[in-house]
Amino acid sequence: MSQDYRTMWKNLGLDLTAHDALLSVLGQAYGDIYVSQKDRPAGMGYFDFVMSEVHGLRIKELLDEKAAGRKIIGSYCVFVPEEIALAANATLVGLCAGADFAVDEVHRYLPRNTCALIKSTFGFKLGKVCPFLEASDMIVGENTCDGKKKSYEILGKLVKNLYVMDMPQMKSPEGRELLKAEYVKFMEAAEKLTGVKVTVESLKAGIAAVNAKRAALHRLAALRAADPAPVSGLDSLLANQVSFYDNPARFTASVNALCDELEKRIAAGQGVRPKGAPRLLLSGCPMAVPNWKVPAIVESLGAVIVGEELCTGERGVRNLVDDSAKTLDGLLEALVDRYFKIDCAVFTPNPERLAHVEEMAKAYKADGVLHYGLSFCTPYSMEAAPAAEALSKKGIPALCLETDYATDDMGQLKTRIEAFLEKIRA
Ligand code: SF4
Ligand code: SF4
Repeated sequence: MSQDYRTMWKNLGLDLTAHDALLSVLGQAYGDIYVSQKDRPAGMGYFDFVMSEVHGLRIKELLDEKAAGRKIIGSYCVFVPEEIALAANATLVGLCAGADFAVDEVHRYLPRNTCALIKSTFGFKLGKVCPFLEASDMIVGENTCDGKKKSYEILGKLVKNLYVMDMPQMKSPEGRELLKAEYVKFMEAAEKLTGVKVTVESLKAGIAAVNAKRAALHRLAALRAADPAPVSGLDSLLANQVSFYDNPARFTASVNALCDELEKRIAAGQGVRPKGAPRLLLSGCPMAVPNWKVPAIVESLGAVIVGEELCTGERGVRNLVDDSAKTLDGLLEALVDRYFKIDCAVFTPNPERLAHVEEMAKAYKADGVLHYGLSFCTPYSMEAAPAAEALSKKGIPALCLETDYATDDMGQLKTRIEAFLEKIRA
């Protein structure tokens, strides 16, 4: 890394020694898990580059944007509408973290039985290793699960710019009204932060940029229905993960270029696994960078992941926003229409999620579903067993896994996934 980056990180308040250690572990894991894959599409080179510069060039770009008067908003949930941030002259970045860090210190603030995603958020703040978080002018939390909403009470004391958005719990007319009121409040907060009023034109432009990004990811998802699968689940997950950090227009162009290449691969019958290799769908908790543990195990066993029913996957990008309204209120209504369909397990009841898992398994020709739950995540754990039972009744084998970010259960996970694949192969 250049000296410029080190100065930049220091100015952001990062702990350079701890940050060096994180980058070294991340680089090693990336090499072992990603670069070692065989028959990768050339288009993944762009994502390799983004990952190699995720704390370097991308942060420099964000700081340049700030110097030019733009603001950076960090978020932890796909319910935070990027369209509104863009319309208010802000850039939205995902802050969810997928690795354990400063664990002992985290346990001074959070109970041990907190999910790894939340602990990681705190670890990255307490360990001073996340330049995205430190570069954010406003951090948006949301009242989704109990773990998150209570942890924001504590996080609010560690960061100076936390904004908490309330969230409905039920898909009722009152729930929809609450979401709309919260989006209006968030728009006002973003306007106050940037000093820029959202207009019909700017919101339409924000919607167009995010729709294009989602449409590119829909295209990528659809191509994975081919057998042999033209791209690995690991690489597809990476593209989804990068969507939370990258410049939206550049990201969209890069995913579309990858899809052009995948179409040629499909026409030539070229895949990352032989035709007929076991195909699995992942469903459950989000997988933030660098949480690649389960997909890496699955694909090291000769299977291929063909879809992710995750917030870092189809749950996060399903449906586009209708941009035909001519008024600001009409566009906000359209935004709420789209976001209110997200079937996060924090909603009760939540039958749409199971329906989507079944739809995806069929669309991507999955032979089975892996339900992925983070330990101590009550919403997704509660939905796991009923989902597996319902899928089995429809002839779709399902395996429920519960894990965290540690590596000590990898052997056990491998054994269970191997047995599941044997069952599928038989
Ligand atoms: S799982 Fe729920 S709370 Fe978590 S990012 Fe997704 S929508 Fe938000
Ligand atoms: S993984 Fe579960 S417990 Fe953790 S933040 Fe998401 S919904 Fe909450």
